[in-house]
Amino acid sequence: MAESGLSKKKLEGKVVIVTGGASGIGEAAAQLFAINGARMVVIADIQDEVGQRVAESIGLEHASYIHCDVTDEEQVKAMVESTVQNHRQLDIMLSNAGLLSRSDQTILDLDFSELDRLFAVNVRGMAACVKHAARAMVDGHVRGSIVCTASVASCSGYDKFIDYFMSKHAVLGLVRSASNQLGAHGIRVNCVSPYILATPMTCRAVGMDPEEAEEVEKMFEPDILLKGVGLKANHVADALLFLASNDSACVTGHNLVVDGGFLAK
Ligand code: NAD
Repeated sequence: MAESGLSKKKLEGKVVIVTGGASGIGEAAAQLFAINGARMVVIADIQDEVGQRVAESIGLEHASYIHCDVTDEEQVKAMVESTVQNHRQLDIMLSNAGLLSRSDQTILDLDFSELDRLFAVNVRGMAACVKHAARAMVDGHVRGSIVCTASVASCSGYDKFIDYFMSKHAVLGLVRSASNQLGAHGIRVNCVSPYILATPMTCRAVGMDPEEAEEVEKMFEPDILLKGVGLKANHVADALLFLASNDSACVTGHNLVVDGGFLAK
């Protein structure tokens, strides 16, 4: 059995950044990374109070919150630099912050100001996080892991949400290209592609309250092959942990789909 299989704590001693870590998938991943022994989980988000509360719930010895709007490259650069300065190195970047578009966006009525707003986070923001994490890892001679949250929208089309689908295809392009360019440094770049699950983002999109998450989950269960599981943030966090940790030591450029079989149909 590989050494990683014996170790319960898969991220022992690692310094991790989670963007969009105040909510949903990012919050679940931040919690799981801490449980798995991360020395420090830096939660980077724009929801300051909520993000601070998530850091406190993990424990401030092993988590901290930093305000970082990923649409601003200078803020991303400063956030990565302060992480390295305070914690000596960066081992793992989870670039997860993202937005959903207005559902009525089709090619026939595509609103480019909406597209720009969405791309600023989902594409430019992702690229800024990958860029500055990779620079820190190269400079620090760290054979790190960079993981992005894409979506099943990275490899399928749909009858609406065109800008969101375009943006997630771009994330896959970013991951595949960056993995080519960073492999020589021993840095892995992968992404996870979930199907729809009930997070504050999706609850808002269907006009429901995050407290009604179970109802939202039920709305989408008929679309997936696996019955009785109910796709949840912790399932996505498990996949993110796999890609962040040495369990995936020889995996790079990969898109790990977590969709209950949605794309297999
Ligand atoms: P969420 O809204 O619960 O969490 C997203 C977080 O990103 C929030 O805390 C938000 O404040 C933060 N954020 C937004 N803009 C930001 C910015 N400019 N700078 C920094 N942080 C910012 O949503 P979620 O569902 O957990 O989404 C997380 C990721 O998962 C997104 O990239 C999303 O596209 C992707 N995803 C979600 C689903 C789903 O069904 N929930 C499915 C596939 C992919």
